[in-house]
Amino acid sequence: MKYNRCGKSGLLLPAISLGLWHNFAGVDTHENSRAMICRAFDLGITHFDLANNYGPPPGSAEDTFGKILKTDLAGYRDELIISSKAGYLMWPGPYGEWGSKKYLVASLDQSLKRMGIEYVDIFYSHRPDLVTPLEETMGALEQIVRQGKALYVGISNYNPQMTEQAATILKQLGIRCLIHQPSYSMFNRWVEDGLLDVLEQQGMGCIAFCPLAQGLLTNRYLHGIPADSRAGRPTGYLRPEGVTKEKLKKVNALQKIAKNRGQSISQMALAWTLRDNRVTSALIGASKVVQIEENVAALKKLNFTKEELAAIDKILA
Ligand code: NDP
Repeated sequence: MKYNRCGKSGLLLPAISLGLWHNFAGVDTHENSRAMICRAFDLGITHFDLANNYGPPPGSAEDTFGKILKTDLAGYRDELIISSKAGYLMWPGPYGEWGSKKYLVASLDQSLKRMGIEYVDIFYSHRPDLVTPLEETMGALEQIVRQGKALYVGISNYNPQMTEQAATILKQLGIRCLIHQPSYSMFNRWVEDGLLDVLEQQGMGCIAFCPLAQGLLTNRYLHGIPADSRAGRPTGYLRPEGVTKEKLKKVNALQKIAKNRGQSISQMALAWTLRDNRVTSALIGASKVVQIEENVAALKKLNFTKEELAAIDKILA
């Protein structure tokens, strides 16, 4: 594993991290979830990313992770970076979503209980709340750090302007905004339009979620939609109509470049996401151990020639 410094902090994160949004929930096979987490850790993936609502049912991914921590990783807490988030709908009533202090503090307490741990390493505001004052949301993150319930805090899905404001407020409160978690892949390049510049100015790291566009940037859908794939399963966030001819045409074209590089399409897509050194880590998902193995092997070839990057831009345009 390669470890990258997270912005200007002291924290190193693995270049590839594993997220538990899909395939680690109550509806999934526990033994498979366990095998993936253990293999990931053996490959040097020290960072596991969760959120209060990961399931289904919501919360069950944290339950699963808590069980595996107990059965397999109990002796390794100090070698792990565990993150969780709150922002999306978690429980009914006015206090179960968005960015109030009431919600964030209560939600983290629930997450800690589900995972059976005393603190998370990183706690995120999962999405911006345009109604709650940003001072309140950031104040909640500050309190959480001061209480020792999180070592670091971050934000997710915030635009460049709100990112700058959030980082500034936290700085005034004496807390560093460690990291931003945005979506970023060959199919979704919005962070290139200002966000990465803000993160660099603020000394923040960046962990890119859905770097494989939920599996589209792999060989998964080149011959139809497999029943066991995210688009094929009823609980997957990617729906069959998201697997478009236009996207598959691009994946086929990208695959030729990947082949010349001696990589699979998923390996090239991950290396591409990491080509800008302001991106600290690519946050993958997986449904099988072999996918994690294949994806970590992307780190064997991270550099691109100018010609390769130009050819990729042309396909993605
Ligand atoms: P990816 O884009 O990496 O997609 C992962 C999926 O791609 C896998 O479940 C698998 O799909 C397929 N896949 C992965 N590797 C391979 C391979 N080598 N060959 C073939 N198929 C492969 O990321 P996710 O969409 O899973 O998101 C990753 C994490 O990002 C989440 O778990 C979560 O932690 C975070 N996230 C954060 C969000 C936020 O708002 N902050 C929002 C969304 C995600 P299949 O099941 O079909 O096998």
